[in-house]
Amino acid sequence: MSFSAQEINKLIGEFPLLEQLQRTEPLLWLNPKLTDFSNASAQLPLSQSDVADASARLKRFAPYIAEAFPETAANKGIIESPLREVPLFKGQMELESAQRIPGRLMLKCDSHLPISGSIKARGGIYEVLKYAETVALEAELISTGACYTELNSDLCRNVFSQHQIVVGSTGNLGLSIGIMGAALGFLVTVHMSADARQWKKDLLRSKGVQVIEYEDDYSKAVEEGRKQALSQERCHFVDDENSSDLFLGYAVAAERLAKQLTEQNIQVDAVHPLFVYLPCGVGGGPGGVAFGLKLLFGDHVHCFFAEPTHSPCMLVGMYTGLHDQISVQELGIDNQTCADGLAVGRASGFVGKVMDPLLSGIYTVEDQKLYELLARIYETENIALEPSALAGAPGIVNLLSQGESYLNDHGLQDKMENATHIIWATGGSMVPEKEWQQYYQQGTKKF
Ligand SMILES: *Cc1c(COP(=O)(O)O)cnc(C)c1O
Repeated sequence: MSFSAQEINKLIGEFPLLEQLQRTEPLLWLNPKLTDFSNASAQLPLSQSDVADASARLKRFAPYIAEAFPETAANKGIIESPLREVPLFKGQMELESAQRIPGRLMLKCDSHLPISGSIKARGGIYEVLKYAETVALEAELISTGACYTELNSDLCRNVFSQHQIVVGSTGNLGLSIGIMGAALGFLVTVHMSADARQWKKDLLRSKGVQVIEYEDDYSKAVEEGRKQALSQERCHFVDDENSSDLFLGYAVAAERLAKQLTEQNIQVDAVHPLFVYLPCGVGGGPGGVAFGLKLLFGDHVHCFFAEPTHSPCMLVGMYTGLHDQISVQELGIDNQTCADGLAVGRASGFVGKVMDPLLSGIYTVEDQKLYELLARIYETENIALEPSALAGAPGIVNLLSQGESYLNDHGLQDKMENATHIIWATGGSMVPEKEWQQYYQQGTKKF
């Protein structure tokens, strides 16, 4: 699908914010389709029982994970990240924005998820495990309910080596699929977009994963992966643009977060709103997490996505209602960003449609801002993140300065003192020190 210049002009006439997006100016868009959860829930294609099924599967695999990845043994093979308050960072944000931030500011450290160091350790690993379970049950290597530690054996790896897993990625999804797939014994091929960092390709190759590189962007890498997978037997394609398995793997995060909130005595209810700010690439990660959170907290949780000013694909898709029928490149936006995890020009149509009645809004962030926030969170809280992971950080300031109508419409103004704001820090712990120093230098540059 592509648009003529005339069609693009007509679209801009109808949707004036597109002009601001074309100029790559940061902005906050509030979603007019947001619906009361009691009305929205009926039209959702997936339900709480689908999420519960995914959660149960991750529990079945936990003993295997604990054995195959000893760094997860302390948490009994459950791949989870800390939720921590970031008061010093909050103070710094207040100083820089000259604005008091009411409520509590927290960081969900998916940057420190074991095995692959990003939010992809949720969805990506889940989808590989689900495929492994299907193959293993068919080959009678295991029976449901049995102990899956059996899978950590040469016998099982031999069976899995007859099967392939293929994925297209900007880097982090490839890492999670590649590391997990290779550990189980699958033949894994990762189609990498031009944004992918060299260290990610090197790491995957060191694990025996085949990496195919493209000069083109994410959409091309996915397309090539899909083509390869279709032409082969016993081959599973992880479809980042459409997969409900990935989505459900991400959604399990919600019940885990709810437990952490309870443990830290943090309430979420009609007078204690929860705000969550999620960096968005193609949409599966933030969409899955937001979906899970809406199922648990309904109207008490307010979910915002964050995108780079040069890759606002979900904003363009949801705002125009065209979803995956339009790319940012068709608007003349280049999809070039330092936030490699978010360098996606065309959003998932599946996710955009699910999010229509659930998402509060989307804002965009400039690359230089991501670098600066990367430096700030390191200096204040001693946490090293990758640029993509910072996109959630300006969410609360944006909401306070530009989202007054949202706070008024939802009766939130007098509840902000009781609010909890969660910045979803989606990746970074595996970035090599030298690479990370370059990011940091960018963030401390004076202009
Ligand atoms: C993939 C990724 C995201 C966004 O997830 P999508 O499913 O692509 O929307 C955000 N941050 C990081 C670090 C990522 O790797």
